[in-house]
Amino acid sequence: MVIEAFIADSPENTLQNNDQEKAFAKPLVGFSRGDDPLYEAYKEHVGPFFVSPWELFALTFGAKGVRPENLTVISYILPQTEATKADNRKEKIYPSDRWARARIFGEEVNVKLRRHLVAALTEKGCRAVAPVLTPQFSRRISPQYGLSSTWSERHAAYAAGLGTFGLCDGLITSAGKAMRVGSVVAEVQIPPTPRPYHDHRAYCLYFSHGICKKCAARCPAGAITEAGKDKNKCLQHVRKTSAYVKERFGFDGYGCGLCQTGVPCESKIPIKREG
Ligand code: SF4
Ligand code: SF4
Repeated sequence: MVIEAFIADSPENTLQNNDQEKAFAKPLVGFSRGDDPLYEAYKEHVGPFFVSPWELFALTFGAKGVRPENLTVISYILPQTEATKADNRKEKIYPSDRWARARIFGEEVNVKLRRHLVAALTEKGCRAVAPVLTPQFSRRISPQYGLSSTWSERHAAYAAGLGTFGLCDGLITSAGKAMRVGSVVAEVQIPPTPRPYHDHRAYCLYFSHGICKKCAARCPAGAITEAGKDKNKCLQHVRKTSAYVKERFGFDGYGCGLCQTGVPCESKIPIKREG
């Protein structure tokens, strides 16, 4: 498939370090229907500014002839490599070189993959659009959740059966939480991936068993508590990392991800005895 082949073979999948190491390991892929009721539920929960797959498609190509049930949201997870995770596990305040590279150059890979997937679908005669690359994509303030946006890659991945949310707000997948995520909406009918969960926090040991909270202990900003993640505290810390990344590693970057590494849900769905 296009996504797996890009990550396995493309020279674009690079951390842009001296050894041109791969930015990401083998991806996970899942599908959700364009008319999945979850997308309307997101609108209700997050705010009316959240754009459904159909709205996105209509805004991009015009509403004529576009039906929600004819759309599929293709979601993918790009797991961090073992080397990147191992480096960041050792850190206590600032990100490792590989982690900061994965945040900046890895996200560039993700942007190229979204474009590549759209182009591959278009070539096959299917109209397609990457939500976060549209002019409609923007940051917003949700009355309930604070800093939000008009599309959420993680919520699309949740709809596509790829994972559930953790105490730190990250998506815990079968490849863990140390990953980046993307999606493309296409006019193609693909059977949706079954969601092997009924609760949006099923895989997190805190929500399932009242234990763990190891992501909170890892956070240098004190941004994670039993109430969840304080997005502003997190953002303030991540902003502070840019001076460190420039001085220590010599490129313009930032990152953190300490709550995504060195925790039981880093690389898999955690089990109770690990909490
Ligand atoms: S580290 Fe523990 S509490 Fe935090 S998200 Fe992972 S499983 Fe949940
Ligand atoms: S990314 Fe860093 S600052 Fe933000 S919640 Fe995770 S550990 Fe805390």
